[in-house]
Amino acid sequence: MKAAKTPIFFSSSASAKTDLWQESCALRKQYWGCQVFLRGIVEISNHCRQNCLYCGLRRGNRRLRRYRMDGAAIFDAAKAVKRVGFGTVVLQSGEDSGLSAEAVAELVERIKRDLGLAVTLSLGEWDRATYALWRRSGADRYLLKLETMEEMQYARLRPGRRLSERLNALMHLRDLGYEVGSGLITGLPEETEESLDRGLEGLASLELDMLSVSPFIPHPETPLKGHPPGDVTTNLYAMALGRKLMPEAHIPVTSALGLQGDAVRLAALEVADVLMLSLTPPEVRGDYAIYPGKNGDLEDPQERAARFRPILEAAGFTVPSSAGGAWRLGAGS
Ligand code: SAM
Ligand code: SF4
Repeated sequence: MKAAKTPIFFSSSASAKTDLWQESCALRKQYWGCQVFLRGIVEISNHCRQNCLYCGLRRGNRRLRRYRMDGAAIFDAAKAVKRVGFGTVVLQSGEDSGLSAEAVAELVERIKRDLGLAVTLSLGEWDRATYALWRRSGADRYLLKLETMEEMQYARLRPGRRLSERLNALMHLRDLGYEVGSGLITGLPEETEESLDRGLEGLASLELDMLSVSPFIPHPETPLKGHPPGDVTTNLYAMALGRKLMPEAHIPVTSALGLQGDAVRLAALEVADVLMLSLTPPEVRGDYAIYPGKNGDLEDPQERAARFRPILEAAGFTVPSSAGGAWRLGAGS
């Protein structure tokens, strides 16, 4: 019989957790100092061909008003990201079959040429040729979270999809020269202390440039509406363990964690170094309803961006306007 693996962290004592937190804070400072990189997210479409059990954008949610921004509107939103002084625009969407790969490529090229922003894409799973096209058009980074590294749990949570396909996609992205990010959701059904440990160790073995860990938030129009939300403290420790295992990675405070308010945001930034703010235009931002409360705050991009700088600076952080690329590409030097 195979011996059960002893959990390395999540069942450890309170003092071990405090030690981990301190160690991870020190690593954050060692690699990124007191810098907080601000990234502006533009949520370009909420159409999705997938049916993930946890997500309000799933195709089975018939109550959601669907939208797809056109090229001009996306470019204007990217201009707003530039205007507020952020170095990176993140274009995110559901896995939208109605997106034209060529149109995305043209848009990325234009943003790079006319605005000089770093471009992160988070558009789900596409074939290698499409990722290659977007990379040739200038896309710098790609975010594709695994959500869990447990094969069976993955298959149940993302009907019709397999973990191996997502891992292959990450390999293609890395191969094509993207800075690559992935991550987990904490608090999903079937999660155990061991699976969280394994998930973070597995992600570390992928040598990612970015790591995102966010708490699950139930959405009333999904099959997981009755499942409790992810525990915030566990999520913070998962981020700390992520920092320890991947010290040079960019780690964002996700919007799901940000829902807990500024005190939690600031606490998380002791181990994280990136704040992602949705700057999706007011006309559609409320419809990017991954979970309740998403995009429910200040609507004007300018006001949203301006709100955070003084809070961060008062807490002793600095806010560079640089793009904040990957450590392995010299961003930290
Ligand atoms: N469709 C793309 C994908 O799945 O990679 C990108 C957009 S998807 C909405 C972005 C992220 O939202 C997912 O990677 C997942 O981590 C997060 N998400 C979805 N539903 C969530 C929920 N109920 N609670 C917390 N995070 C959620
Ligand atoms: Fe679609 Fe992404 Fe939501 Fe899954 S997580 S339903 S792929 S938007």
